Amino acid sequence: MIVVMREGCGREEVDHVVGLVRKMNLKDHVIVGTERTVVAVIGDDRFKDRNVLESCAGVDRVVPILAPYKIASRQTHPEPSAIPLGGSLGAVAGGGKICMIAGPCSVEDRSMLLEIAYAVKQHGATGLRGGAFKPRTDPYQFQGLGEKGLEYLAEVGEQTGLAVVTEVMSIDQVLIVAKYADVLQIGTRNMHNFNLLMAVGKTNKPVILKRGWSATLNEFLLAAEYIISSGNPNVVLCERGIRSSEDYVRNTLTLAIVPAVKRESHLPIIIDPSQGTGHSYMVPAMCRASIAAGADGLLIEVHHDPEHAMTDGAQSITPEAYGTMMQELRAIARAVGREL
Ligand code: PEP
Ligand code: MN
Repeated sequence: MIVVMREGCGREEVDHVVGLVRKMNLKDHVIVGTERTVVAVIGDDRFKDRNVLESCAGVDRVVPILAPYKIASRQTHPEPSAIPLGGSLGAVAGGGKICMIAGPCSVEDRSMLLEIAYAVKQHGATGLRGGAFKPRTDPYQFQGLGEKGLEYLAEVGEQTGLAVVTEVMSIDQVLIVAKYADVLQIGTRNMHNFNLLMAVGKTNKPVILKRGWSATLNEFLLAAEYIISSGNPNVVLCERGIRSSEDYVRNTLTLAIVPAVKRESHLPIIIDPSQGTGHSYMVPAMCRASIAAGADGLLIEVHHDPEHAMTDGAQSITPEAYGTMMQELRAIARAVGREL
């Protein structure tokens, strides 16, 4: 970090800052400019308390240089990570191949899950999504099938070879969801649930971490850091849109996060254009844009009968639309040097 002193501060004030820096077991390098003095602090200061320096007399501000997320950062891990997701079809997020995870918003029954799973598999998906525990704004609406839904997911995953992705909403669900699923999904509403992040960090299942709908990139990467620092390095970031004043979309899908994440972190990032737009007609275009922007995969809601879907029908594409879209996506993937 750099400690910027106020204009006209005294020698004793600079000496005091230098003394504190040394007490923190860090090195100092004082640069006296024509207008201001700055104290460059040398060493890993991420776990030191900046407030101590910020509150000293004569200090204007303290500017951090190292990212606070240590293990998720590209500074400490320059190579991009590829995270195997399980299943027998070789689903991996990150690396040369773009990973397609598709399926219904919610598991509604066994036969619909089977039908959708085979359809998306036929068109190149390697992952199957489907919520068994659903975070609903309205407590009177369908909350998911719970463990029965997990059983269907595990059975269909086994039959098709697709890696099963499903949401875990609370600490007391972690063991049961981990028993049936290949990948644990942390939903947008839980990105700030630090105890849950630590709990999934203690499992050996890969985690898809969705960005909180009002979280900054810094908060998103720190949430990933919670999981990794708890012992689980297999984190896949997922952008699903943020809240904005726009009302022609359900959420505003911020694809600029893809190059930002690539610069800041080695973790793969996938895009959920279904929650990200709220409208099925927008989904193919946002999938094309995601791949062009360098995303490592897509998490998409597909339903064989969107009109009668129990949740999120308006943003679910049909298996036919999924098939057509995949052909377009293959061309885009090739153009940007990826495979699909
Ligand atoms: C979902 O994937 O169906 C879901 C509820 O996602 P999010 O947490 O992004 O809203
Ligand atoms: Mn949904």
